[in-house]
Order: sequence, then C-alpha cells, then structure tokens
Amino acid sequence: MPDLTDKTLLLARYLLPISPSNTVLDNHGIVVENGRILAIGSNRSLRKNHPDAARIDLGHHIVMPGLINAHGHLAMALMRGLGEGHPLDSWLREVIWPLEAQIVSRDFVTAGTRLAIAEMLSRGITTASDMYYFPEVTAAVATELGFRTQIAFPVIEQRNSYSNTADECIHRGLELNDSYRSAKTIHPAFGPHAAYSVTNDALTRVFTLAAEIGIPVQMHIHETPQEVSKARDKLGSSWIEYLDQHGMLVPELQAVHMTTLTQEEIQRIAERGVKVIHCPYSNLKLNSGRCPIAELYAEGVTVALGTDGAASNNALDLLGEARLAALLANYGNEGPSRVTPDQILESATLGGARALGLEAEIGSIEPGKAADLIAIDIDSPSLQPLFDVHAQLIHTSAANQVSHTWVEGRLLYENGSYKGLDVKEVVATAQTWRDKISI
Ligand SMILES: [Zn+2]
Repeated sequence: MPDLTDKTLLLARYLLPISPSNTVLDNHGIVVENGRILAIGSNRSLRKNHPDAARIDLGHHIVMPGLINAHGHLAMALMRGLGEGHPLDSWLREVIWPLEAQIVSRDFVTAGTRLAIAEMLSRGITTASDMYYFPEVTAAVATELGFRTQIAFPVIEQRNSYSNTADECIHRGLELNDSYRSAKTIHPAFGPHAAYSVTNDALTRVFTLAAEIGIPVQMHIHETPQEVSKARDKLGSSWIEYLDQHGMLVPELQAVHMTTLTQEEIQRIAERGVKVIHCPYSNLKLNSGRCPIAELYAEGVTVALGTDGAASNNALDLLGEARLAALLANYGNEGPSRVTPDQILESATLGGARALGLEAEIGSIEPGKAADLIAIDIDSPSLQPLFDVHAQLIHTSAANQVSHTWVEGRLLYENGSYKGLDVKEVVATAQTWRDKISI
C-alpha cells in the first residue's frame, strides 16, 4: 500500500474523528494529500467528488487519529519489567539507577528506541514523548523512522554517562532544540526529572528558558503520597504549592502522574492551565496511587495518557492504558460511570495533542491536520458483534487488531511489516541486550 502523498481516499467502515466528540461516522472516509487531511465525508460523496483520487478500501476497519503516548522513556524498552514487585522508591534506587549507571550508552539508546518505536507502531501509537539520556540519539532514530516524538530532553543533577551537571544538560538540550527547530515530527521540550531531584536554581533556569523559547516542560510531579509528605516535611508545602509559589504552574507544564492531589490543588492546576499526564499501569505496578481523572475532567483540566517506560509497565500499549484508566476512574463509585469511553479515547488522542501543544497538527481527523492515522481491523472474534465502537476500542485488546499506522501520511506499519525497520533485527538486538544486562 502506498504512502498518502498523491491525493487518496481512505474509505472506512467506521470513522472516529474525535472532534466533534463522541462521534462515530458510518461508511465515512478521508481525503488525504501530501500527508495532510483535506476533507472528510461519506464514502459515497467522496467517490463522487474525487473520481481521480487513489482509493484505499478500509471497509472492514475503524479509522481514527493515531494514539498519543504522552509520557515515556523509550530506551527503557530494553529493561522491560525489571525490578518486578518493588515500589517506586526502591525500584529507582536499588534496581534502575544502578543498572543505568552500568549500561546506558548511545548504543543502548539506539537499540531501545528502535524496539520501543516498533512496538508502538504496531499498537497504533503515532506520537510518543520521550524523556531519557542521549536525547539527540533518540531524535535521530525517530527522524530516521518517521515517528513523531516529543523529545523532553533530560535535566539531571547527578553525573552519569550522558552528562555531568544540570547546566550541561540544559546546554545540550538547547543545542538539540536549535537543530530541530524546523523539523516536522520532532518536538523538543525540557524534561527535568522531578522537583525533588532537580535544584530550584536549575528549575528556575528551565522555566525561564522554556518561556523565552516557547517550548513545553514535562516533569514527574506528585508521583506518590510519600513524595508529597516528604515535601511537606522539608518545605512546609506540597510540590504543587511550591511550584505555584515560584511561578512554575503554567499552561506549558506537562505534569506526569499526579496521583496525590487535594481538591484545592485540582482547582489550582485547572486555573493555571497545567496539563496532566496519567500513567495508570505504571502507577499501579509501582504501587504509587492513582490520578483522580474524573475530578480533573470535571474541572476542565486537559488529561493525556502515557505508558511511562516499559521497565514499569511492561507494555507500550496506549489502548491498554485507556482501559485501565476507564476502570480505575470508575472503581469504587456507586451509580453510573463517571468517565465514559469517548472521554478516555479523547485523552488518548486529542488530549495528548493538547498536552504536548500539538493540537493544531494532530489528535483529531480535521481538515488541515497531519495524516497521523490508524486503522483497526474489526473482522476479529474479539470485536464482533460491534455495538459500541468507543467502548469496544477500550474494553477489548483492540491494539492487537491495528492493521495500519500512518505518520504525516507515511505508512510506517502494515499488518506486521514496517517501513525502514527490520523488526527481526530489532528483536535480535534486544535479545543481545538481555544477555548483557544479565551479566
Ligand atoms: Zn516516567
């Protein structure tokens, strides 16, 4: 099947544009040219009005915007599931950080990023955010594969194989930002690890520079109740209160996790326009708590979804996160569901785009946006009979039925085959890293 360069009609059985919300269009399709969405309409009208366009028959498929994985550490795919059973603090201090000190290198990041992108494309993810060492390597791999990536370059105090100081991280990140200023599918951002692990001086520089340059800041915030109680002991306030006192609760802040929030803090982040990225699987695996997304939705906060790194997940499956998010939000609540499947699907697409500041480009099927699209094959025992498309996408393993993944109109994945990526080689390389990590 060709890329969507020449004028092409994608004729779908069900089209989920995401905007307008909670909409399923039967027998509708999209006109795409040069990687851009030109129009949507009924299949019949598109055939009639564009007789010269190429046609792709997706009459047994759902077509929707690509999924947006708003938080992750891509290269950690090579550490898939390590440290099973640890809570966050000992998982980081006893398992992950010592291992990273031994093995993280440019080769590690290259192999891990390729593995993560291969997995995500097969599950319908067209955009991911990355926060990891050697971000210039991640950006180069993502560019080569045509995968849209927010590169939240790390800002870390501790000496490591990538950097010696937070200042050096910032300097190298700014160089990366300059290199990718006009790139279509690479979106730089600051990625300070957390308020507890980065000094106030470094954070102040990050937020000042981010405002000057006009790029976002992504940071882990309130990941566990212990993080918040330690902040109260040390500062006399939570990190949310502290960041607000320092003018750091801004619309460009992507706050990852947010499992521990008071109602007052929810209202404060709603007023400040802070974006929240919910990573339910990682939060449950590391026994970190859960983000109160029903309350956040009620206050109008933008909520996106993320897988976090594969080390704490173990899959990079955003529809799986959507399922867990829906169940968690409704757990323990009497009466009707507080969060609906279409709300969660919006978080997995347009909410992610808004969180990353990319809503003008991606997240919904609307004329003028990039053709970041996926198709899901519905001729599967697990998806029939299909009564409620939104609910079935969330409450089954629909990611396993993803048949096509396009980014900017380029067909990067089709029924197990990849463009520009030898998946057998990617898997074989991952196996060699398993041996190195075991030593
Ligand atoms: Zn993370």
